[in-house]
Amino acid sequence: MGCCDAPNLMPLDEAIAILHQQLEAITEQETVTLDLALDRILAQDIKAPIDVPGYDNSAMDGYALRFNDIATNHEFERIGKAFAGEAFDGRVGKGKCVRIMTGAPIPAGADTVVMQEDIQTQGKMIKLLHPASVKLGQHVRTQGADILTGHIVLTKGKRLGPTDIGLLASLGLSKIPLIRRLKVAILSTGSELKTPGQGLERGQIYDSNRYVLHAMLERLNVEIMDLGIVPDQPSALEEAFTIAAEQADLIFSSGGVSVGEADYTREILERMGDIAFWKIAIKPGKPLAFGKLGKAYFFGLPGNPVSATLTFHQVALPALQLLAGEKAIEPIRLHASVKNKLRKRPGRTDFQRAYLSATPSGLEVSADSDQSSGVLSSYTSANCYIKLDQFACDQDKGERVEVIPFDRWIG
Ligand code: AMP
Ligand code: MG
Repeated sequence: MGCCDAPNLMPLDEAIAILHQQLEAITEQETVTLDLALDRILAQDIKAPIDVPGYDNSAMDGYALRFNDIATNHEFERIGKAFAGEAFDGRVGKGKCVRIMTGAPIPAGADTVVMQEDIQTQGKMIKLLHPASVKLGQHVRTQGADILTGHIVLTKGKRLGPTDIGLLASLGLSKIPLIRRLKVAILSTGSELKTPGQGLERGQIYDSNRYVLHAMLERLNVEIMDLGIVPDQPSALEEAFTIAAEQADLIFSSGGVSVGEADYTREILERMGDIAFWKIAIKPGKPLAFGKLGKAYFFGLPGNPVSATLTFHQVALPALQLLAGEKAIEPIRLHASVKNKLRKRPGRTDFQRAYLSATPSGLEVSADSDQSSGVLSSYTSANCYIKLDQFACDQDKGERVEVIPFDRWIG
């Protein structure tokens, strides 16, 4: 066999580089209340308006006292109590202590907390059981130890996750500057397609691509315009693309981008837009259209469900994130020992759907031998891709291969 099973294909990296060059991130901002900010993208760096914690407080239930007193004295008189939300207003003088709960402000004068397990009480008096082991400032969470006023805590382009939302809440911020949501139009092309719930006649199949795309886009928290199924008829396609181009920032269609007889999509796109038709050196995948349709960016994904899903996930999704203003984090890449022989012809970067597991002897990965691009079930039982380089060949059992665990968009 020659070096390539398909020459004249565009390497994946090159396709991604072109996308990065051509896409311009949207910048329009809006202010949104914190409760609606999950999975949205920050439009500005966020600086802490206050210190966190806002005051010195106890990390333990115990007794607050003056460390220097311990040198001469191991018994202290309890003069009050401090609770979280209910400070002790007095001052802790020599030989005195205050009963203190976790989170309560350290009373004036005190600088150290002894945990309650390390003392003995006798009426109003407490006695230190291990005075020699007490350290200055122990169990005190000092003001600003977590975050200092003015520090940048989250940067522009961050997609806000649950702990980011919590961080913003801890700073008292309720109105968050966000980049507006992307408007994304989706449609499936193909006269054979039916919507689930309808009956099928001979030669018809259910549309699954639009459902995969819709689900992934929902997780990406974009505004979705679902234009449904468009039959392989020039006028219907033209109408759908016109509507999509007028209203969306980004359009995804699936099907009709290869060179079949009913692939009108290609003809119409060539007429209506500035679209390049790529044959990318990936498997599954290969045909992909990308360009501009009016003001909107356009991706024409392949029709095969696995190809459509893979090209969306590995090629279009990073582009979508860039367009949405997101500074996406790099996906995790691992290496694992392969449990079964993998078939691979040099020529295209292969993303085999596979199953990664941790064993006592290390990470192991196995791939189903049926990697057909038509069956989505190869995805549903997988938890990762095995990524085999463009020019790699068959991999024997026991070889180490690159693994990309499924991320939150696909998993
Ligand atoms: P095409 O790229 O339009 O030639 O489609 C390639 C294959 O994918 C054909 O077998 C189509 O029937 C199938 N296909 C196209 N679109 C979809 C879809 N939305 N859902 C499921 N299968 C599809
Ligand atoms: Mg078709």
